[in-house]
Amino acid sequence: MSCCSHCPSPDAGPGGPAQRRVLWAALAINAAMFVVEVAAGLAAGSASLQADALDFLGDAANYGVSLAVVGLAIGLRARAAQLKGLTMAAFGLWVIGAAAWHGLHGTLPAAGTMGVVGALALAANAASFALLWAYRDGDANMRSAWICTRNDVVGNVAVMLAALGVFGTGTGWPDVIVAGIMAALALQGAAVVLRQANAELRAAKRDLSSRPRRSGRLEYRPKA
Ligand SMILES: [Zn+2]
Repeated sequence: MSCCSHCPSPDAGPGGPAQRRVLWAALAINAAMFVVEVAAGLAAGSASLQADALDFLGDAANYGVSLAVVGLAIGLRARAAQLKGLTMAAFGLWVIGAAAWHGLHGTLPAAGTMGVVGALALAANAASFALLWAYRDGDANMRSAWICTRNDVVGNVAVMLAALGVFGTGTGWPDVIVAGIMAALALQGAAVVLRQANAELRAAKRDLSSRPRRSGRLEYRPKA
């Protein structure tokens, strides 16, 4: 669920062209599923689909960061993490708002769409995991990718269970409850990301002020 918020991205240094292709593919899958789930969530009136989309957003951001800033100064990575944390927090608040709106208005989400898109999300997560597994680079990376995928699957299954609950009860409450829990976990994850990014930024500043310039071109410079 909120795995993407604090799992390290499965990169290990600069990586070869094959590993970069895999990261691009994983980025494409996760970005596409983010769009699909947001659109389907709006169309079906389902807040839990939108909450599940949060995870794809976070994972896509992780792969994007891996591709863009691998090997750059820690300050830049921390800035990227900060941006990601803020984006996820904003989106998490939006999902909580959507869940509250649906709860207050007693809307009935389209259970069929929820179930189908939840299953599609499960397939997408399985596909990303298979890609990363084939190009795994060390046990530690694989372990984090595995934990992330496991948590992603929990989220996808929660959406499918919500669909079943909506279908069974004829009310939107299962959708609202699942969305609320997932969005709260995502907000918690965003807070962890932001705390960590802030700590890294502080450390980078200390590092720069206590040492002479390093030889990197893309060095982080704190604002005076
Ligand atoms: Zn994830």
